[in-house]
Amino acid sequence: MDFGARLESVRTQLGARDLPALLVSDAFNLRWITGFTGSSAWLVVSESAATLVTDGRYTMQAGAELDAAGLTDAVTVSVGTDAGWDRVLQSVASCPVLGVEAASLSWADARRLEEGLDTTLVPTHGLVEALRMTKEPEEIEVIAAAVALADAALTTVVAGDWVGRTEMELAAALEWEARGRGASGTSFPTIVASGPHGALPHATPRAERIEAGAPVVVDFGCLLDGYCSDATRTVVWGEVPDDLAAIHAVVAAAQDAARDETRAGADCRAVDAAARSVIEEAGWGDHFVHGTGHGVGLAVHEPPRIAATSDMTLETGFVVTIEPGIYVPGLGGVRIEDLVVVGESGCRTLTSLPRGLADLTA
Ligand code: ZN
Ligand code: ZN
Repeated sequence: MDFGARLESVRTQLGARDLPALLVSDAFNLRWITGFTGSSAWLVVSESAATLVTDGRYTMQAGAELDAAGLTDAVTVSVGTDAGWDRVLQSVASCPVLGVEAASLSWADARRLEEGLDTTLVPTHGLVEALRMTKEPEEIEVIAAAVALADAALTTVVAGDWVGRTEMELAAALEWEARGRGASGTSFPTIVASGPHGALPHATPRAERIEAGAPVVVDFGCLLDGYCSDATRTVVWGEVPDDLAAIHAVVAAAQDAARDETRAGADCRAVDAAARSVIEEAGWGDHFVHGTGHGVGLAVHEPPRIAATSDMTLETGFVVTIEPGIYVPGLGGVRIEDLVVVGESGCRTLTSLPRGLADLTA
């Protein structure tokens, strides 16, 4: 991964906005620029310098990670025993104008900056996030490895008989299996939602037992080297009810339609419309209550959004989910979610799981 080029691309964006410096407060942005993985740090990037401010817990780690990123000469590390607010102020003191990240700088920290400095703060929106959307080949490799790991864990666990066992047990088994296979964690809280509970798109696993013939929405992702995977399968143990099979076929067709639209140059809203029109034509339009997809990388939800209100256009190297769903109160939910890499004339699906309701279950 070319961290030096990333730092320069941030400077190019600053130049385009006439900003002499940017205070990076978002941990994912900070990691993307520097490779530093600590949980507490600030990064100041100016035209000619960059300073990483962190605390004494990370002295060795910051040095080693900047070295691994090839940034030892390009980024100065400022460490101390405190959280380093005074050192942040010092490193931006000479900036008459300072760009800040509107989505992650807290109101309290913005006030502290204004009180401690004679500087005009200029909010920026998605400056580094926009650069993160296009993945380098090495990033795509890591994401593909995270996907393969999650697919293997899910395939192994779901092959068991889960009738009579709880949603929480299934979620725990998935996480155990993933950690045992080398994942550093899950990329978001695992969703296992059976029966009517699956009508909540972001349900939390409960102590409720899984019943034969009930749809079970399993939305699961692994974290590997800081990168996320994200996939959903809706599965059934036992006989598949006809009404559920019919809904599942609509969701699968909607996913195919969106996948067919996914290529460089495609508007995100057109990809969303492709999935949505299939679901609307089948009469379930009111039951598809979220967007069709989102970017995935260091964060599990990052730009672009693939939704009716999105004004973004896909480009080669974006990694996005395609995840239409239908949610029916009283019956449950069906969602199918794959991770794909956008290419020049189409997309490559990273997720390798079969989609059928009973393809993965015992
Ligand atoms: Zn998901
Ligand atoms: Zn997702």
